[in-house]
Amino acid sequence: MEKKNIDWSNIGFGYMHTDKRYVSNYKDGKWDEGCLTEDDKIVMSECAGVLQYAQTCFEGLKAYTTEDGHIVVFRPELNAQRMVDSAKRLEMPVFPVERFVDAICEVVKANAAYVPPFGTGASLYIRPYMFGSSPVIGVKPAEEYQFRAFCTPVGPYFKGGAKPITIKVSDFDRAAPNGTGHVKAGLNYAMSLHAIVTAHEEGFDENMYLDPATRTKVEETGGANFIFVTKDNKVITPKSDSILPSITRRSLIYVAKEYLGLEVEEREVLLEEVKDFAECGLCGTAAVISPVGKIYNHGKEICFPSGMEKMGPVIQKLYDTLTGIQMGKIEAPEGWIKRIL
Ligand SMILES: *Cc1c(COP(=O)(O)O)cnc(C)c1O
Repeated sequence: MEKKNIDWSNIGFGYMHTDKRYVSNYKDGKWDEGCLTEDDKIVMSECAGVLQYAQTCFEGLKAYTTEDGHIVVFRPELNAQRMVDSAKRLEMPVFPVERFVDAICEVVKANAAYVPPFGTGASLYIRPYMFGSSPVIGVKPAEEYQFRAFCTPVGPYFKGGAKPITIKVSDFDRAAPNGTGHVKAGLNYAMSLHAIVTAHEEGFDENMYLDPATRTKVEETGGANFIFVTKDNKVITPKSDSILPSITRRSLIYVAKEYLGLEVEEREVLLEEVKDFAECGLCGTAAVISPVGKIYNHGKEICFPSGMEKMGPVIQKLYDTLTGIQMGKIEAPEGWIKRIL
């Protein structure tokens, strides 16, 4: 298979059209058999549930080339299961886990020429999503749905090494208690846009959202979970029912315990105690871990000892180990790496 003529090391994180995408439609209470298509346009009712009441959820995962030349994806069953959970919470039909994984494999195979070669730092980002496509005007779930998965090559998240970022404690809230913060719904992002644009205008890279009920506990950012390291090398991640269960974070917790022998605590994290931590990072599929150097909180700054130049030592070790597992340099736990080609 001949690769596309793309300057792999210099593509950003944007949409690039690729050859094939997967589509399956839900109608009369069942999913059709689904297929790959070259058609990148969607035609639907002007009154579709997704357009009127934002009935949609999505996933995000990456395919990449390993050192020995195989194309693989990382734990796609977890994305499939998370989309099942999102669909249930949004009163959408469940797209079965095995079908989700098959769809991902088909899309990646059909677009193998777009999977960046090993060593470029780039990867193929896969975006599965589902939306209500039939007309809805009185508020209720749609009757028809479409599941789609497309892919687009994306560049290395950090060009020239991961520089720590500066974030602010947001005055906006991300997710209400008993709301939809724990599912990957587009609506969580629509309402975060004003907060992130505001933060950027003020010179910050990201928002730290607190629990809306008491505004004393750390939740997450707009699209990544927090991971902290204490001065005695304990790994801490915030626990809350309104945090999106990041697959990267769950994988890092396993790596911390089983590969690095570190103690891990998943518990409520008070904003008040963050100043006592040694390292801070944001974890998600896009960057694996982005180190945080500084947190701005209403005139006060929390500066982590790891500084603004490089990742802290524990976060660096977690990053190296997980990316090593993903790239096939370090032996992966059973079932983590799915070979596609
Ligand atoms: C997708 C997402 C994450 C990261 O999850 P991964 O599975 O690690 O990519 C974190 N927070 C939010 C709000 C998200 O939508």
